[in-house]
Amino acid sequence: DADPPLKKLLRSLENVTTAPPNSGDAVVYWMRMEDMRIYDNRALAQASVQALKDHVPLLVFFVLSPQDYAAHDRSPRRVDFTLRNLCVLKGSLAKLDIPLHVTTHASRRTLPSYVVSFLQSVNATRLFANIEYEVDELRRDITVCNLANEAGILPTLVHDKLIVEPGLLSTKQGKPYSVFSPFQRQWLAAINKNPNQYLAEAVSPSANPPTVRDHPILGKMFSSEVPSRVEGFQCLDKHQMAVIWPAGMDAAREMLRRFLRTKSRHTQSGLADPLGEGAETSEKKSRAMAYKDDRDRADRDSTSRLSPYLAAGVISSRECIRAALELVGATKVHTNRDTGIGMWIQEIAWRDFYTHVLAAFPRVSMGRPFQEKYADVQWETNPEHFEAWRTGRTGVPIVDAAIRQANTMGWMHNRARMVAAMYLTKDLMIDWRLGERVSLHAAIIDGDLASNNGGWQWSASTGTDPQPYFRIFNPYSQSEKADPNGDYIRTFVPELGTVFGPEIHNPPAKLADKLGYPRPLVDHKEARDRALRRYKNPGSK
Ligand code: FAD
Repeated sequence: DADPPLKKLLRSLENVTTAPPNSGDAVVYWMRMEDMRIYDNRALAQASVQALKDHVPLLVFFVLSPQDYAAHDRSPRRVDFTLRNLCVLKGSLAKLDIPLHVTTHASRRTLPSYVVSFLQSVNATRLFANIEYEVDELRRDITVCNLANEAGILPTLVHDKLIVEPGLLSTKQGKPYSVFSPFQRQWLAAINKNPNQYLAEAVSPSANPPTVRDHPILGKMFSSEVPSRVEGFQCLDKHQMAVIWPAGMDAAREMLRRFLRTKSRHTQSGLADPLGEGAETSEKKSRAMAYKDDRDRADRDSTSRLSPYLAAGVISSRECIRAALELVGATKVHTNRDTGIGMWIQEIAWRDFYTHVLAAFPRVSMGRPFQEKYADVQWETNPEHFEAWRTGRTGVPIVDAAIRQANTMGWMHNRARMVAAMYLTKDLMIDWRLGERVSLHAAIIDGDLASNNGGWQWSASTGTDPQPYFRIFNPYSQSEKADPNGDYIRTFVPELGTVFGPEIHNPPAKLADKLGYPRPLVDHKEARDRALRRYKNPGSK
């Protein structure tokens, strides 16, 4: 962690020696899996301004990289969401006479030289991209910058993903934050001191001259198609995902509007009509305003459900905050926990926090616990237990509902994620890394490496600012709070569809047997004692 790759990347950008090129055929914006939007996109905005200045066309380039997706355990749903967004972007960019060129390159190792060869093939003068903060991506971009520099192409990489960029906030000792509350205080102070720097909308790209369509190479790119699949990432429920999570900026903005302006509507399935909203409502009653009281209710559709769009960068977190402030007529950003909006903005601060942690302590994404003292905690290796958890058949209704929600919808309510993750790591005593990788890989459409890692390490008590190991969730009392009437459980665990009343949270053995629902894998109290023992003395059984 002494010299994290982000620092190295910023240094290699400082060391760029290439003189500004004075002729060429294109400025290229390299879009990646986390910044899939046209509006409020800093690298794209800068590329567009540069192209106008240099009187050359702007080209958007995207490389599908199956080996990267496999290495990061991307789910087929997440990859399919990428393809669907590319299709929408292709159309929107074409309206501006900007070509979007999508290719596939299998080898991770040769990706940097592939990208630079492509830049040379279109006689590009400059390359623009937004920074991705994961270690592998940073290392890749360091090589790309060096190769581009050698080829006489000027690389520019900019911060865009977060409200406040990693590396900017530090403790009094000049160290990166590892505790959320003081991080958040400084985060707020920085934004409110200079809102223009952190919240201003990046300019929208200007249209290319229509003559670009006659260009011998760029012109052909308008008619090339976005691939419909990526080898090894077949999304089996593509159509269902497209209904629940429609692609594109308009869909993301609609999700945001729905959260800020409309009332929560209880749908039996929680699945049907995901954009369904009931009547337009006064701001006082909207989901956003109710967020303070409702956000931990897994049975309510009360959170924004924007995570797939934020993870893929289909909408910027800046836009989310601007819209939230506008709703309440606030001029300053706050995370006041007495208000729905304040609490919601705090969640966006958590998103920033976990990416800051990832950038400052890359080891967390390399399978290391942030708190090294827990590196030796002894885990169980019980394939049957793990399989039961992964398929939602643990015999603990709230855990099974959570997992099945993810398996059905590609998304899970935050409280449900915490309960399910804590159950895997503390009750089943199964390594959090398995949960981290499997949840990303198999089911989730909103996979974000930093938030997922942060969430798992929080639940496993190994992270930066985690739940202390001795505060182990009791899944049954969590269930009573998160799903008091059992609606969530009945929706996702049909075997329990006829059970009403308190039994829904922990069905008696006889009833479970009759309904074909499994009995609990472990006794919570015994499992809790085992977890306490093992965490107290890492290394011991
Ligand atoms: P809202 O409550 O509306 O929050 C708004 C946005 O804030 C979210 O869309 C998200 O971008 C951000 N956010 C909210 N809570 C958190 C949080 N705890 N940490 C970081 N960012 C947050 N979030 C992901 O986006 N991708 C993941 O892969 C992911 N994995 C997780 C794994 C575990 C074990 C846990 C406990 C949490 C994980 N989270 C992840 C965080 C959180 O559960 C989701 O962001 C949230 O449930 C998304 O629903 P929403 O968009 O309705 O959130």
